[in-house]
Amino acid sequence: MQFNDFKRLNHKSKLMQPKCLNCGDPFIGRIDKKFCCDRCRNTYNNRIKRNHEKNILDINRILRKNRKILKQFNPEGETTIHKESLDKMGFNYKYHTHAYSSSANNEYLFCYEYGYLIIANEKVLIINHQSNMGK
Ligand SMILES: [Zn+2]
Repeated sequence: MQFNDFKRLNHKSKLMQPKCLNCGDPFIGRIDKKFCCDRCRNTYNNRIKRNHEKNILDINRILRKNRKILKQFNPEGETTIHKESLDKMGFNYKYHTHAYSSSANNEYLFCYEYGYLIIANEKVLIINHQSNMGK
């Protein structure tokens, strides 16, 4: 092996030295290894899991609040309100549990058993889940 080949090889092997995904320290091991030790692997995986759990809890909280707001306006049957009323109470239009298309091709968005449809003139129609809407 020529000296230059050796240098190149040495340089390459340095580049391929894995770095721990948790602490960032380089370590010796197979190139597909991601962590320097079990502790780092556990810490990293727990953090990922915690973040996922937090996202789920945050969205659950939003859905719960949306449901509560719709419920307040519509204890039974259906009702029409100004969209502004939902806005004021902090209704989050980004999240819903499911959608239902009526025979008139209106898509109601549901937060659990309460659904809504934005209609003309900044108004919202709020409905209860009906048994004929299926699951
Ligand atoms: Zn580490």
